[in-house]
Amino acid sequence: MYSSSASQTGPFPRYLIRARRLIPGTGAAAIESAALLVQDGRIRFAGPAAQAPADPHAIEVDASALTVMPGLIDGHSGLVNWGALPAVSLLRAYLQHGVTTAVAFDGHRPGANAEGIPLRDAIEQGKLRGCARLVVGKVVKCTHGHNEGRIADGPWEIRRAVREMVQAGADFIKTAATGGFWCKNGGIHRPNYTQEELSALVDEAHSWGLRVGVNAHTQPGLGRAIEAGADIIYHGCLIDPSAIERMAARSTWFIPALRVTSTRNVATWPEGSEIRARLEAAAGPQRTGLRAAVRAGVPIAMGSAGPGAVNGWLPGAAPVFELGEMVESGLTSPVAIRAATLGTAGAYRIDHRVGSLEAGKEADILCLRGDPLDDPTVLRDQRRVALVFQKGRVEYAHPEYRDYFSGGDESSRV
Ligand SMILES: [Zn+2]
Repeated sequence: MYSSSASQTGPFPRYLIRARRLIPGTGAAAIESAALLVQDGRIRFAGPAAQAPADPHAIEVDASALTVMPGLIDGHSGLVNWGALPAVSLLRAYLQHGVTTAVAFDGHRPGANAEGIPLRDAIEQGKLRGCARLVVGKVVKCTHGHNEGRIADGPWEIRRAVREMVQAGADFIKTAATGGFWCKNGGIHRPNYTQEELSALVDEAHSWGLRVGVNAHTQPGLGRAIEAGADIIYHGCLIDPSAIERMAARSTWFIPALRVTSTRNVATWPEGSEIRARLEAAAGPQRTGLRAAVRAGVPIAMGSAGPGAVNGWLPGAAPVFELGEMVESGLTSPVAIRAATLGTAGAYRIDHRVGSLEAGKEADILCLRGDPLDDPTVLRDQRRVALVFQKGRVEYAHPEYRDYFSGGDESSRV
């Protein structure tokens, strides 16, 4: 049995994980009686146990009662101090729910700055536990537009704002092409930015090699974002046939973030309030739109728009709730799981590193009691999470599996 000698920054332990069932995350069929060999933080082998190469130095992990799958990726996540909980604790709570990558932004605090960038770096260097692998810095936004962030109007100022984010170390650029539910003066129905402005933003970001994600709920903002060449559309609450057709043709990714309009989230707003009415009105059309987008072949990824209201959500629970919500909205379990793993990795072009259990990828592995292919809501129950590996280290262990925990000095409790 593994002792607690290996620290988070020490040499990589090797693991041979023997699992009841392995979901590769690629869309290929699950493998029964599987094994995963983890060396140097990467997956060396994933497949039938009988074919696993021998490694006398590997720690054997008995996951014979467990299902293993790729760590989840939340492609649209707030990086915020959440109530009394600092952002770093929130990111750790995501990890404990099986989310090994969070694509994070902070668009909700006036004066929000690029503090996510040093936080990401500290996590990547193993100084902090967490899961913010890609961060935006500040949201680039128009005067009086959606989100808080770096206000920039006109193509040249927008290009400058994008360059500032690149210089600060942002992994991608986020903006808004329409208002949001919380915006005054028309909410989601009001466009943000002209075609010229959005086209300049996307062109500038792409010329630096950065992906662009755009909040867009309605026309004409949706169409402008797609026309500009946005890589990812968030929310799309009133996504229409013309947007769906063009997103399918251009392979524009869709992250619906259904959690925002879910019954549970609506209930966090006071009855009779304007925002509650807006959310309720959008819930049905958004789900109908998602089903139509899936049928049309629009690539789907997963994002929770978490962490959610402090009074309505447990820390870290938003992404796994979102996955269940996608299934309840009509996606099959394998399609939803693929969206939340390899799909989201593809949307951000990190699918060569993470997103599936394949040889050569970073060992981000979720071991679960229960089978999310049969019932994706098992992911919503944090008590079913047995082990979470991130880059080949055990970053969370259920008390029954605590002996495998890599941290040594830190409790594995939630
Ligand atoms: Zn959003």
